Amino acid sequence: MTNIEQEVASYYDKLLKRNAGEPEFHQAVAEVLDSLKIVLEKDNYYADYGLIERLCEPERQIIFRVPWTDDNNQVRVNRGFRVQFNSALGPYKGGLRFHPSVNLGIIKFLGFEQIFKNSLTGLPIGGGKGGSDFDPKGKSEGEVMRFCQSFMTELWRHIGEYRDVPAGDIGVGGREIGFLFGQYRRLANQHESGVLTGKGLTWGGSLVRTEATGYGCVYFTDEMMKARGESLDGAKVIVSGSGNVAIYAIEKAQELGATVVGFSDSSGWVETPNGVDVELLKDVKENRRERVSAYVDETQGASFHDAGSIWDLSADVALPCATQNELGGEHAKKLVANGVKYVAEGANMPSTPEAVEVFRENKVSFGPGKAANAGGVATSALEMQQNASRDSWTFDYTDGRLHTIMSNIFKMSDETAKEYDREGDYIVGSNIAGFKKVADAMLAQGVI
Ligand code: NDP
Repeated sequence: MTNIEQEVASYYDKLLKRNAGEPEFHQAVAEVLDSLKIVLEKDNYYADYGLIERLCEPERQIIFRVPWTDDNNQVRVNRGFRVQFNSALGPYKGGLRFHPSVNLGIIKFLGFEQIFKNSLTGLPIGGGKGGSDFDPKGKSEGEVMRFCQSFMTELWRHIGEYRDVPAGDIGVGGREIGFLFGQYRRLANQHESGVLTGKGLTWGGSLVRTEATGYGCVYFTDEMMKARGESLDGAKVIVSGSGNVAIYAIEKAQELGATVVGFSDSSGWVETPNGVDVELLKDVKENRRERVSAYVDETQGASFHDAGSIWDLSADVALPCATQNELGGEHAKKLVANGVKYVAEGANMPSTPEAVEVFRENKVSFGPGKAANAGGVATSALEMQQNASRDSWTFDYTDGRLHTIMSNIFKMSDETAKEYDREGDYIVGSNIAGFKKVADAMLAQGVI
């Protein structure tokens, strides 16, 4: 072991003890530290000033009670979180997740990833994340509204256009952002549109924000394929999930000539050998909020499965767009055996370390989430620009900006990987490229 390897191992050991019981956070840090060893070996300057320790310690963590009343007049209590991880590059920026699995470790892993992702976009935004263990599924509109109002009653004092700008994530879409914004506006007594992104189009939202993460993931995939002389035209694609990211990844992949052969939700997966009827899928998931089996009932040639896994399908490309650690080592082996040559993560950390290793060994071109799904936050930053200038841009102009940002992220990850003798390793490339910008800003700003 070199000195740097020893230092990093001892630091990671301390981090495990200081952040016990947070396996997702450990996993996210381990992956980044593994890439950073190469930088620290080459440039010792980054190993000084407690930089790595500061980077892994959130600037602030807020945990709060969220009491609300259900439709039976029963008081319910959830827990709210906001982790303000790093503001060296700009105000904290990152989504809110409402899902029963949410805990501090999950929010910390997401916030940590967000630092590097936001840096890669080239826009002036820091990293943060938040959410609650509230489950919007099965709740009435009134219950969701009362929960959002109570959540914002605490959160509002911690956020602001120049301080922290939350957005959506799992379980938080346009409806929830509306309720959250309404309560913020009431408490702050001002229409501060730059305080949240993902807003409705008539009150400060941006065109393309809804589509951005899914479209961006496909633009990134297209770049990975071009680098090997291939394209999505005629390719078969598997997309897991059927939420915001998945739906628009499906839409854009099919627009570019691919056939999407399957999608899923937490109840099971759907095989669609002839492609996906995107309008029907939007109606089932976005309007009616039903399970994926409803899609199968209303179309021809699709089948629903609640056994096995979506990763059993054959395809050229896999886009995991549901949740963390949904794609394990055995799934990865199956995908490789069934012909998958490209994987790009629409979700955050959907592939386990074992799966990533299988992809590496088999020369599968792999786009990690912090690069491949950065289109959502990038377009949120474009929404902030429109709010600041009280302007609204056309769909085509905004989509063009998104496309350019995704191509630049690919280029940066690719060139950085080459610079560090790891050609084609976009994990190393994106971690190092994202890190250097934040690290330089932190060093310039002193020990804070
Ligand atoms: P949505 O809530 O819109 O959709 C989530 C989808 O994933 C649903 O189909 C859901 O199924 C499925 N899912 C969630 N948890 C599980 C689970 N434990 N097992 C199986 N399926 C599950 O969320 P988004 O589409 O916004 O987010 C998806 C992923 O993309 C997340 O990792 C998120 O962090 C990431 N991301 C999102 C961005 C955005 O702009 N929205 C930006 C960047 C990353 P069900 O409905 O049955 O729960």
